Amino acid sequence: MTAEEIRRMEERVAQVRAEMERACRAAGRAPGEVLLCAASKTQNSETVRTAAALDIDLFGENRVQELCEKYAAGAYGGKPLHFIGHLQTNKVRQVVGRACMIESVGSHRLLECVAAEAQKQGIRQDILVEINIGAEASKSGIAPEELPGLLECAHALPSLRVRGLMSIPPAADAPGASRPYFAQMRGLFERAQAAQGGNVSMEYLSMGMSADFADAILEGANLVRVGTALFGARSYPAQ
Ligand SMILES: *Cc1c(COP(=O)(O)O)cnc(C)c1O
Repeated sequence: MTAEEIRRMEERVAQVRAEMERACRAAGRAPGEVLLCAASKTQNSETVRTAAALDIDLFGENRVQELCEKYAAGAYGGKPLHFIGHLQTNKVRQVVGRACMIESVGSHRLLECVAAEAQKQGIRQDILVEINIGAEASKSGIAPEELPGLLECAHALPSLRVRGLMSIPPAADAPGASRPYFAQMRGLFERAQAAQGGNVSMEYLSMGMSADFADAILEGANLVRVGTALFGARSYPAQ
């Protein structure tokens, strides 16, 4: 990266942090309460390594192959790494143990597959349960009403620790359009908190991306996943 590109990234990180702080203050929350996850899909190892030295708390990757490449290159600079994308069961083996948290566990089948792999590796894998809050056919995640049953299953899987919930609401067509979904997520999170115990603890509520992380914080998110606002527009390689 050129010195100018690095300076631009520093500026964007500072802008995102300032907006997070404003939202925290508006919600009467302490700024330190909300973690900033840099969603680094499509960013190369050099860019990620540069970001790791800045004021971000952790990284989130969507694609298993990218995660493995950047992990092997030591790009995350010791910062925690979450997996946040759609995870196929045949790739679980590559993610368990590398990502300290798998945020996108959105089916019984994946829950059981992650648990089996963690047990095989002799580790406890932290996960979040992904909720399809907008009931969209195109998105993964369980329906809100399926959460108690899934947590019941998780109680019987000691190689897992369920640490909270994650969601990607429907794409907002207007400012503020995501807020009702974030509020529903918060309600669900609080109800699950009241029933937590054993290997299930509701600590993290992961929601909010570049366009709406301030709204998510106003509605109780304590982990926001931000890509574009930190790295600039993504360019996808031609297929
Ligand atoms: C890409 C991505 C983000 C960040 O999206 P931006 O709009 O670029 O901030 C957050 N969460 C998930 C799951 C993503 O895939």
